[in-house]
Amino acid sequence: MPALTLAETKRRLDGGESCESLAEKAIGCAEHSKLGAFVSIDREGALERARAIDLRLRAGERVGALAGVPVAIKDNLCTKGLRTTCGSRILESFTPPYSATVVDRLEAEGAVIIGKTAMDEFAMGSTSESNAFGVVRNPVDPERVPGGSSGGSAVCVAEGIVPVSLGSDTGGSIRQPASFCGVVGFKPTYGRVSRYGLVAYASSLDQIGPFSQTVEDTALMMNIISGHDGRDNTSSTRDVPDYLQNLGDGVKGLRIGIPEEYWGEGLEPAVRTSLDESVRHLADQGAILVPVKLPSTRFAISAYYIIAMAEASSNLSRYDGVRYSSRAKDPKSLLDMYSRTRSELFGEEVKRRILIGTFVLSAGYYDAYYAKAQRVREVIRREFEQAFAHCDVLATPTAPTTAWKLGEKIDDPLAMYLSDIDTIAVNLAGLPGLVVPVEPAGGLPVGLQLIGPAFSEALLLKTGCAVERRGHL
Ligand code: GLN
Repeated sequence: MPALTLAETKRRLDGGESCESLAEKAIGCAEHSKLGAFVSIDREGALERARAIDLRLRAGERVGALAGVPVAIKDNLCTKGLRTTCGSRILESFTPPYSATVVDRLEAEGAVIIGKTAMDEFAMGSTSESNAFGVVRNPVDPERVPGGSSGGSAVCVAEGIVPVSLGSDTGGSIRQPASFCGVVGFKPTYGRVSRYGLVAYASSLDQIGPFSQTVEDTALMMNIISGHDGRDNTSSTRDVPDYLQNLGDGVKGLRIGIPEEYWGEGLEPAVRTSLDESVRHLADQGAILVPVKLPSTRFAISAYYIIAMAEASSNLSRYDGVRYSSRAKDPKSLLDMYSRTRSELFGEEVKRRILIGTFVLSAGYYDAYYAKAQRVREVIRREFEQAFAHCDVLATPTAPTTAWKLGEKIDDPLAMYLSDIDTIAVNLAGLPGLVVPVEPAGGLPVGLQLIGPAFSEALLLKTGCAVERRGHL
């Protein structure tokens, strides 16, 4: 797998290659790729922006930390003038009039957005298969899924088309595809990165984060996208530290919690072996391993799917054929237009979730499902807090298995939901989670997940670097 890093991109630019040529190569690779990572490729726009940056660089202007770097953006992040479909027919021709804050921030640093990446419809899924615009394939084995929902963003980094990309993570959608594709993926603390311009799936769980080949590149991306934004009232006003500092400090004396609930039943033995080895490697560098308990982990799937679907049913009510979306043809009446638009243009999984979400919020069922799930969420949050009294970070699997075959779980929603067991509690508690590739299992990528207290991004990135350092010792 070609390791296209930001350092390598910078080396090429310093060696005299133009931004236009870098963008041209990335676009060429994207156009020829057989893995389906992109929904839209913005050839003209990207080349024009790259040429503008070349001119500014030649004029001696300081352009920014990502000057001329080709990047890719998940297709649920608004990009002004560039189609944003969320993998759905209902937004097939939606072109946003503004860009997400994260997109503005990347562009302000000179990044060149080359296109929008494939995803599960409205980010609902774990394989990128429930997407209206085609199959996305795993770069290591094209017969397997890349993970999801940010599958395209993981694939285009793993393939070496772009050094960095953005995804979103509501219940694992950055971390699980990172693990399945063998790249770094980071879900920041809820509120660390502005969600303005992210098409909402479940607003109390959604966060935006980067994919990259190295932890260092993720740290740089975090420097750029983190921080308060007045246009997202859940975004935090806390200062953003320089995440690139202290990355190489090591893990001597760091207490790493090993929650038994994540390492037991259901974890594939080969995945376990490679994860065990990565944790042992941290211990060899001076980390102290501490057994901890998170007993309510077993309720996380039920609580997550109730809360996420409830929020989704409300968020998706805005797609009515009038405001943003495509519309069913030849409606007989207004009601017919609403109902046919939604029945014909939403996919199966999205409709299932709108129905379940509406049900758990309805009078008579609200207390039994939604209110109870919120209480479970609070218990899960508290258990993490208690665990962090005994350790600094937690180390867990990202998923119980490696990537499975295309089609294997698509007709079994429950099996699909259950595969999210290792990632969703982190979103329920609003915590940051970093995934770093470790030794593959049976030839397929595996990622170790590091979970930290809220706003411990710097600590997680430093720990992630120590995971990465294996092989250099
Ligand atoms: N697989 C989970 C779901 O379908 C998580 C998706 C996500 O993080 N966007 O809800």
